[in-house]
Amino acid sequence: PKFLKSRKERQSLPAWEERETILKLLSKHQVLVISGMTGCGKTTQIPQFILDDSLNGPPEKVANIICTQPRRISAISVAERVAKERAERVGLTVGYQIRLESVKSSATRLLYCTTGVLLRRLEGDTALQGITHIIVDEVHERTEESDFLLLVLKDMILQRPSLQVILMSATLNAELFSEYFNFCPVITIPGRTFPVDQFFLEDAIAVTRIVILPSVHQDTSKYEQGSVKDQVPDQQLDFKQLLARYKAWPGKLSFLDTKFSKSVIKTMSIMDFEKVNLELIEALLEWIMDAESPGAILVFLPGLAEIKMLYEQLQSNPLFNNRRSNRCVIHPLHSSLSSEEQQAVFVKPPVGVTKIIISTNIAETSITIDDVVYVIDSGKMKEKRYDASKGMESLEDTFVSQANALQRKGRAGRVASGVCFHLFTSHHYSHQLLKQQLPEIQRVPLEQLCLRIKILEMFSTHTLQSVFSRLIEPPHTDSLRASKIRLRDLGALTQDEKLTPLGYHLASLPVDVRIGKLMLFGSIFRCLDPALTIAASLAFKSPFVSPWDKKEEANQKKLEFAFANSDYLALLQAYKGWQLSTKEGVRASYNYCRQNFLSGRVLQEIASLKRQFTELLSDIGFVMEGLRASKKANSNADNPKLISAMLCAALYPNVVQTKIRMKPKSEELKFVTKNDGYVHIHPSSVNYQVRHFDSPYLVYHEKIKTSRVFIRDCSMVSVYPLVLFGGGQVNVQLQRGEFVVSLDDGWIRFAAASHQVAEL
Ligand code: ADP
Ligand code: MG
Repeated sequence: PKFLKSRKERQSLPAWEERETILKLLSKHQVLVISGMTGCGKTTQIPQFILDDSLNGPPEKVANIICTQPRRISAISVAERVAKERAERVGLTVGYQIRLESVKSSATRLLYCTTGVLLRRLEGDTALQGITHIIVDEVHERTEESDFLLLVLKDMILQRPSLQVILMSATLNAELFSEYFNFCPVITIPGRTFPVDQFFLEDAIAVTRIVILPSVHQDTSKYEQGSVKDQVPDQQLDFKQLLARYKAWPGKLSFLDTKFSKSVIKTMSIMDFEKVNLELIEALLEWIMDAESPGAILVFLPGLAEIKMLYEQLQSNPLFNNRRSNRCVIHPLHSSLSSEEQQAVFVKPPVGVTKIIISTNIAETSITIDDVVYVIDSGKMKEKRYDASKGMESLEDTFVSQANALQRKGRAGRVASGVCFHLFTSHHYSHQLLKQQLPEIQRVPLEQLCLRIKILEMFSTHTLQSVFSRLIEPPHTDSLRASKIRLRDLGALTQDEKLTPLGYHLASLPVDVRIGKLMLFGSIFRCLDPALTIAASLAFKSPFVSPWDKKEEANQKKLEFAFANSDYLALLQAYKGWQLSTKEGVRASYNYCRQNFLSGRVLQEIASLKRQFTELLSDIGFVMEGLRASKKANSNADNPKLISAMLCAALYPNVVQTKIRMKPKSEELKFVTKNDGYVHIHPSSVNYQVRHFDSPYLVYHEKIKTSRVFIRDCSMVSVYPLVLFGGGQVNVQLQRGEFVVSLDDGWIRFAAASHQVAEL
């Protein structure tokens, strides 16, 4: 009865109308593209069509389907949903597999897994024997992994004519995918949605009666006259528009009167709207709660940090407090929730109670909550970018693209007509937002992908260039060239593009390769914990803060942590102190951070990243469970020289050499890099005022160009680690009775006694 009841519901989904067409096309074509509005039943229904259809045939012909998802959380939630629709437990016919967790059995015939899991499986099982269908879901998201998987599949279908491939996409970009697969057929599932009224920042501000000033100190009349034109050129247009909207809005405010009317609840500078403005969101939520028509509210925020902040902020408002209010219930929704917590967002609240969901862009396409009627789109999301100054990938807040905004808006019209507020101006929407996000592969460094290609047997004899050129939209060749050089410098790839043992292990660590190297070396040389602390801070950011009006004081505090001429060792000291302070409670750790100019939020993030890194290492056998193993892994954790050496292994060839330059009256310390001349040490570094170094070399992570070129965090390193861990070839020559040790092209060279050479 359960099954029949749910089947009845399922049959009302738009995907069911195309069931016969889909099955018919699949019987004739090897590859198929299916596109359709989010929520039409692609992810949950189409794999079941294929499975159930095959169950009508002979037992040896029963389908064995893999359906990939871009995110862990969607793989779990969809598998659970589909199992429930079949009135089964998850792990039987329907299962899931994500990194470090799998719920499946020999009975599993439909497996939802992350794209990464499938790519890793291909490392050992190139032909995917026994699999009949591969469904690549959400291909429109264009993640690096799914673009790469498409290339793998393109080759694989030639080897395995019985393997069928289905690409599912939410937007209209289906033609691109069809073309890539030899113009395979495309099925478009017509959507059923209700109209959604679209409002922008100007409207949001008007209804919430928040008044914007162009800047805190300026009065608005000046702005109207155009006298502050130069200050914020882009925003000026926006601001004009805001004013116009204010005037047009019924019951408008006496805005241009500098004595603001009582109805104004708050004034803000337009600059405040550059960031996600939680106060505005709270005011909007209040306004919606006052509106007569009921319905769930979905708020899109860029990340977990903002979700937590808004949640806490709302708790201090009696209207929203989860315990005290009987008018609403608030659910955070993000990828680190457990699946039970996640399931709660689907529950319909009692009559009179409003459900508010605060989500990352996970609710944009992968999770559909049916009863949403209002959407508040902060206009921001997290996006992977290549940070040229660090030479590595970073996760940054960016404005959404028009396509994202449209998708977010669409979430409000699932069961009735809806309302969507975008928290950017309509001018910003049409003039500043990109039409579509750039595919991930064109904005990230390519080292990880290079390694992944090399680890696959099917590509082992191909050159990287030839593999890249066959991607659906290949990245720039310069970008590939730079990545290859970095991999060689690091010792992950040989001159003729072969994977080294280091490269082999790095390929299975989904982090920036330099951070991966630090993690691996930290583990091998038994200083795991400090290596992970530094790795996490390199991957995220430094916890040292320097308020602009207290820079001196902040730098001074940092110096108190310093030793061994290293910003990273200072970081370790600061982190240890913070760990101790957290044992004494929230207050203590708050005070510790405040007194020492540290960001508690960043330290927490570092702690959480460290846990993730530990799991990754344990997954590939570099970390063992248990207290004894952990002690052993840290037996060298208090050796600063060794930790500096590990840093050198990770950061080489980011090295500067200190040189003493004689000026007419005094001598001055200069820092020179191998390729781009002199640099300066940033005033925030513990090495800024140092006049003598025991070793002439410093490794650094990041180079920034402001008025001059600065290196920021750096760490002194002696010559031995440089030649041992730098990654290049070490040469030893006897010159005029003296041994000269040099690395690679001779930039790093030093004289050594014979016993030192023997040690080396
Ligand atoms: P698509 O992949 O086309 O976006 P889905 O197959 O994910 O659509 O969803 C189809 C329908 O099933 C949607 O209306 C959605 O609300 C519902 N649904 C999906 N997952 C769940 C769940 N875990 N709980 C309740 N309803 C769900
Ligand atoms: Mg889907």
